[in-house]
Amino acid sequence: LYDIVDGIGRTVEGATQSVTGVFEPTIRLGVTGLSRAGKTVFITSLIANLMNRARMGQLQAAADGGIQTAYLHPQPDDTIPRFDFETHLAALTGAEPHWPVSTRSISELRLSMRVQPTGLMGMVSGPRTVHLDIVDYPGEWLLDLGLMDKSYADWSEEALTRANVRDAGAAFVALARSTDGGVALDEPQAKRFAEAYTAYLQAIRDAGFSDYTPGRFLLPGDLAGSPVLTFAPMPAPEKARRGSLYREFERRFEAYKSKVVKPFFRDHFSRIDRQVVLVDALGAIHSGPQAVDDLRTAMADILGAFRPGANAWLSQLLFGKRVEKILFAATKADHLHHTQHGRLTAIMEALLRDARDRADFAGAKTQAMSIAALRATTEDHLQGLDVVRGRLMSTGKQAAFYPGELPADPAKIIGAARDGANGWLDAEYSVMNFAPATLNLAPGEGPPHIRLDRAAEFLIGDRLR
Ligand code: GDP
Repeated sequence: LYDIVDGIGRTVEGATQSVTGVFEPTIRLGVTGLSRAGKTVFITSLIANLMNRARMGQLQAAADGGIQTAYLHPQPDDTIPRFDFETHLAALTGAEPHWPVSTRSISELRLSMRVQPTGLMGMVSGPRTVHLDIVDYPGEWLLDLGLMDKSYADWSEEALTRANVRDAGAAFVALARSTDGGVALDEPQAKRFAEAYTAYLQAIRDAGFSDYTPGRFLLPGDLAGSPVLTFAPMPAPEKARRGSLYREFERRFEAYKSKVVKPFFRDHFSRIDRQVVLVDALGAIHSGPQAVDDLRTAMADILGAFRPGANAWLSQLLFGKRVEKILFAATKADHLHHTQHGRLTAIMEALLRDARDRADFAGAKTQAMSIAALRATTEDHLQGLDVVRGRLMSTGKQAAFYPGELPADPAKIIGAARDGANGWLDAEYSVMNFAPATLNLAPGEGPPHIRLDRAAEFLIGDRLR
């Protein structure tokens, strides 16, 4: 009964968007994570595996036959780009498998499932349709929430302080410090500033860092080149008159908050029921302690967005509504032999605990997991080592790979990161890039994965019973 009542509540709430009947329950699943975390691959594989449920044994409604059919359906929001499922699936499963183009902006896809409830409900109720609306959006956009409480002066100071201690920041800091913000605005100069700052953000992203606000500088979409993205942090000048570079940057920063950040939270974020946050933890571990520490804070900030009362205007927007479940998943676990998956999960749990200590999720269920949305490797045992084998992206050749050992105690990694250690893990810990496997799929089988079915069970399983 809960599902039906709940479903009515939701559909009425979203009545103007609904293209279907009034009594069909809808789950709005947000999928986010920083750039390259694995969102596109996750969504593509999740949809394909929900449509062909042969490999979804840990999703109860798939295992017991509760899901009778699953099919794509027109999405309810006419102005959000559709997630390009068919193109992404063709990339992954074609004759020459390759990784699909990553998430650059928000997109949406509706999967509708015909579900026969089991247990007590099944006796009194026939099959019903449950809509799963998947909303894919960059995690960078959530980091922008942190800007809402900040003035341009505060943000500038913080951003410049951080850039100052990084090699990649030297050129931008030199530019910012040598420019008098009190001079009259000159558009070519403003553009050079924004470009220099964007180049710096790109460099720190490539180095494995995660604190690159404003989020749209790296993923501008159709805002590229607009004034709202043509600013940068700058030291406050002695005097900043109206029309000066500094005052104009300040105005654009405020416009970014009110015209870019707020609408995203109001129109999209506020409607999410369940959320998965994907994390390339192995990539950060590979990049070193600073990158992990940075990831730790970025994750706490991202998860902070789900804390009720995180922000006064956000609370007003949400109007008491909150995300019911948050899955925090390390992706690309197929880079590791399964004997190390527990350790990766322990690191994710420690990161989640760290965020939870800072942000009380007030009843939202949280879980940490290690997954691979698309398994690109097989396991082997060579010369006493547990290795994985796959086809290398760089050469196209098959290779066996031993990444080194993750510590049994996650504190060893997180503590070293927090203490600003320079290097770690006795042996150099490394990551390789594997191409998607040439898939040998039996008819009706979804793409191979690691624990995608468990992830689905946690996220939506209760609504399919
Ligand atoms: P997005 O930016 O979050 O949309 O990230 P993508 O889904 O495009 O993934 C980024 C890259 O991570 C891909 O191009 C792959 O190289 C890698 N990747 C993502 N998921 C997996 C996975 O399950 N296994 C492996 N081995 N690599 C993955």
